[in-house]
Amino acid sequence: MSKEKKNNQIIDESKYSMGTHLIYGKYKTDKWDYAHHVTAPISSSTTFRLDSVERGAQGFSQFANTKIFGEGQPIFIYDRLGEPNKDMLEENIAYVEKGEMAVSFASGMGAISAILGILTKSGDEIITHNTLYGCTLSLLSNWYPRYNIKWNPVDLNNPDNIYSMLTENTKVIYFETPANPNLEIIDIAKVREIVDKINSQRNPESRINIVIDNTFATPYCQRPIELGADFVVHSLTKGIGGFGTDMGGIVIGRKEYQDMLQLYRKDFGAVLNPKSAWSILTYGLPTLPIRMKKQIETAAKIAEFLNTHPKVEFVNYPGLKNFKHYELAKKQMVDFEGNFAPGSLIYFVVKGASPLESKNNGIKLMDYAAEHAYTMTLAVSLGHTRTLIEHPASMTHSVVPPEQLADRGIDAGGIRIAVGLENADDIIQDLENSLKVI
Ligand SMILES: *Cc1c(COP(=O)(O)O)cnc(C)c1O
Repeated sequence: MSKEKKNNQIIDESKYSMGTHLIYGKYKTDKWDYAHHVTAPISSSTTFRLDSVERGAQGFSQFANTKIFGEGQPIFIYDRLGEPNKDMLEENIAYVEKGEMAVSFASGMGAISAILGILTKSGDEIITHNTLYGCTLSLLSNWYPRYNIKWNPVDLNNPDNIYSMLTENTKVIYFETPANPNLEIIDIAKVREIVDKINSQRNPESRINIVIDNTFATPYCQRPIELGADFVVHSLTKGIGGFGTDMGGIVIGRKEYQDMLQLYRKDFGAVLNPKSAWSILTYGLPTLPIRMKKQIETAAKIAEFLNTHPKVEFVNYPGLKNFKHYELAKKQMVDFEGNFAPGSLIYFVVKGASPLESKNNGIKLMDYAAEHAYTMTLAVSLGHTRTLIEHPASMTHSVVPPEQLADRGIDAGGIRIAVGLENADDIIQDLENSLKVI
């Protein structure tokens, strides 16, 4: 990739680090000429002037038709079809995730339903890991049966379990790594190996695609496409957005699917607001490395603190040496320079004589924190400037009935901490006080 300065000097971007690239993005993009702005200008126009009927007609026939018309400067028509702020965000996220293209959506769920929507049709089947984000579970279990799309959850901690659910109708393997909320780590390369074996027996139309939700790690900690994923999805609302001000979602993957994703977005309508695209491009992406670096340092300290605390049953944090997936995490979760980057989320369970008592103790802790802690806010979401604490079983994963929590890998008393940018000792002080009430 190269960029052209005003005096026609070509700058080779590939000579610079990814962290620097996230600040500059593409200085001059095919999508929009704004050479004299230091930050990208914000665009807010639902419709675009078309000059002539002929140019309007050309715009419509070129839209989502890159196979025939190629890339290059788009003819903008209407925000729901395409618009410069979103296009620039997509270019930059595709670059950092090592994908050929990206298409943005109004939310993470907009992105997830779009990629699953284009890869499946009635009669198809989707295999997922047992543990998934609550609304993804709800999409697969409450809505997909209406379309006759079957959902088959398995324990992908052993990727060979794919074979136990595999049928000729299986079209997608979908998982999160680390998984929400328990932070289980799935071996991406191993899943790739298995899917390659299966695909070698199939014709191109019926091949299985691997889709990975990389929201928990962010591209700073993990680039699944490099490890074998076909597609990556993100909730931009979380670590990439970074400040908790805007919702968004994105799908990254192979170029040949870009048109379909854009058509899906046009017709199902989950369009990212350009003002949110601009915020994520201007604030979220450039600060991703420094935010993540700080959050990882803090998360490691908090995880160590909880790990030895007498009232804590266990802690799942990919950076803890006694975490069951530590070795795999070390292999998969690395920053742009190759350092181990275990992320900003922690899952832990407080002790109790029974699951019910452990749950009640967890609720006590969280209720105390909600009222007394300065640095921990009881709230869902993650990747925020502020540390957020929540109870998955009654909040983000409340779609799971209590008797199915264990099947979904969720402890009744499990607590999720999404580390923010505060001083680590301040958060630990608040946690220590909150643990005292148990
Ligand atoms: C939040 C979240 C989503 C959904 O994203 P929204 O932007 O809230 O729609 C999907 N996957 C994971 C892992 C999440 O944490």
